[in-house]
Amino acid sequence: MIEDFNDTIVAPATASGVSAIAVIRLSGKEAISICNKIFKGKDLSIQPTHTIHFGTIRDGERIIDEVLVSLFKGPKSFTKEDVIEISTHGSPFIVKQILQLLIRNGARSAKPGEFTKRAFLNGQFDLAQAEAVADLIASDSEASHQAAMSQMRGGFSSEIKMLREKLVHFASMIELELDFSEEDVEFADRTQLKNLIFEIRKLIAALIISFDLGNVIKNGVPTVIAGKPNAGKSTLLNTLLNEEKAIVSHIAGTTRDMIEDELSIEGIIFRFIDTAGLRETTDTIESIGVERSRKKILEAALLLYVFDLSEIKKPEDYDDQLAEVKSYGVPFIMVGNKSDHCSDMVWQYLQGNENVILIGAKQKHNIDGLKNKLLEMVNASKISTGGTIVTNIRHYESLLNTRESLDKVLSGIDLNITGDFLAQDIRKALMHLGEITGEITTDDLLGNIFSKFCIGK
Ligand code: GDP
Repeated sequence: MIEDFNDTIVAPATASGVSAIAVIRLSGKEAISICNKIFKGKDLSIQPTHTIHFGTIRDGERIIDEVLVSLFKGPKSFTKEDVIEISTHGSPFIVKQILQLLIRNGARSAKPGEFTKRAFLNGQFDLAQAEAVADLIASDSEASHQAAMSQMRGGFSSEIKMLREKLVHFASMIELELDFSEEDVEFADRTQLKNLIFEIRKLIAALIISFDLGNVIKNGVPTVIAGKPNAGKSTLLNTLLNEEKAIVSHIAGTTRDMIEDELSIEGIIFRFIDTAGLRETTDTIESIGVERSRKKILEAALLLYVFDLSEIKKPEDYDDQLAEVKSYGVPFIMVGNKSDHCSDMVWQYLQGNENVILIGAKQKHNIDGLKNKLLEMVNASKISTGGTIVTNIRHYESLLNTRESLDKVLSGIDLNITGDFLAQDIRKALMHLGEITGEITTDDLLGNIFSKFCIGK
């Protein structure tokens, strides 16, 4: 329900109890005139905005307190409405008296979060930022403060908005095609659309991981090892796990298979998901089209793609595999194995590439390098989202839904489905993205979010 903006709301802005000063806040069309009725000092209605005035609050002839009144004229205020803040002496009795007086003179008691809700509805900031205000107030550690602060300043929102705009463009292009359906034209280049979706998917995946980051130490990073047969996947896994026996053996209540699939590096657990099953079905990287392995990869937070260095004869042999791996939109490491059989040319070509690590799984060559890379990837997800960490479960759910819709669009393009279905899936992804920033809202959602705020915020 959109509030009736004709009324003026009031609430204490400071915590209840005895304090040096307390602040009462008013917002709305009548904020200045209501305050004027009980304030004896300068006429507030003719004072410039962003000024502070000394005077008394009176109930008839009775002086309730000496106060300072701060004046913020809309739209240059928190709610974009006229806002008055009355600083009183911090006595709960005085605060109550003044509140009652303001209500008698036409103000209405504000509901929880109503000031912030008005600010949102008046376009002061988007929903993710509004929620960050609540997180900021609740923050009790450096990390939670940092996360809320960066979100409130809009870092997260602006990225989502930018990607959303690009997607809107494609959706409208495809819808335009529908108008010309008889002529069989394609305004929306499918390859470009696919690339854009990969790009969005990558950011979404990074944001999803950032939410998981807090759980990573507890639950582990879901990691998939894939690659052609004989690339050395089992050898690598054995090499990695053999060194970690002491750490994995004391995990109670798990089956032996599960234990073998966990690897702890500097306290971060990497969980190798069902790699045995994946090895059976992933005969070649091309067969990643096989739905099961494809799904496993898409669900993973990290993909270790193992390839045989001795099989690389020319740059394209590597580039083709890289392109395929990239197409998943999942953070990945290209693990070049069998460094003992690597030609100088290939070594030169690959050495120093950002996502490549060259190892010898059998000889245990450069395994530490790979471990460092794995750790780097976990932190990299923080960096690649501009330091943004998603902390809000509602945003997390919308991100998961967005990813699901994007995957539908991708398979839709592959299956060459008609434009109207494609447009429908894109619209769905747009809706979920919009839920995060509040471009798409329902009254229930707004009610739910703002009711969690404290009164006066
Ligand atoms: P998978 O099919 O990908 O799991 O590959 P495997 O781990 O079974 O390895 C295939 C073959 O490559 C085996 O004969 C391994 O001994 C061999 N292999 C694995 N790593 C290396 C390596 O670093 N150097 C060499 N020369 N051979 C390796």
